[in-house]
Amino acid sequence: MTTSAVHWFPAYVGLGSNLNGPARQLASAFELLTEIPDTRLLRRSSLYRSAPFGGIEQPDFINAVAALLTRLPAGDLLRELQHIEQRRGRERGEVRWGPRVLDLDLLVYSDQRIDDPDLVVPHPGIAERNFVLLPLQEIAPGLSVPGLGLVSRIRANLNEPEISCIG
Ligand code: AMP
Repeated sequence: MTTSAVHWFPAYVGLGSNLNGPARQLASAFELLTEIPDTRLLRRSSLYRSAPFGGIEQPDFINAVAALLTRLPAGDLLRELQHIEQRRGRERGEVRWGPRVLDLDLLVYSDQRIDDPDLVVPHPGIAERNFVLLPLQEIAPGLSVPGLGLVSRIRANLNEPEISCIG
């Protein structure tokens, strides 16, 4: 793992679950985020409930967003997030848009735009998902997403059903 970076970079992580007690899964994931090396958990959003995406019959999702400060490069941070998913029992080869115990997405990493085969930042789903934009706006109302602009403005342009905050 690379730990030589001098700067602390702001990063935002999207959390989602719809299996095995989703609210408990997110509480546990927030705890595990505090254990990532060279990284601080600054803020955690409320939990939001959203209907599943993609036409597969499955339970509602619970979503949230975490604000981090990290000294890890984006690729190392992604590997830490994947490690947490695996610790929570996430299995490889799941159906796209299918049910999952825990999904962690690196939404934004500082002002960087990354387009690698295994890491795209800002996460391509940001502009299309209220379940990402609402919690992101809650904890970072002034955030400007690289290439997309202010969170509040992205939301204003989004024509998606509202989702409910469950505290
Ligand atoms: P998912 O089904 O959402 O867990 O997708 C995981 C796959 O997306 C992994 O192969 C990651 O390498 C890739 N990926 C690309 N960009 C990102 C990102 N910003 N955050 C999380 N996973 C990403």
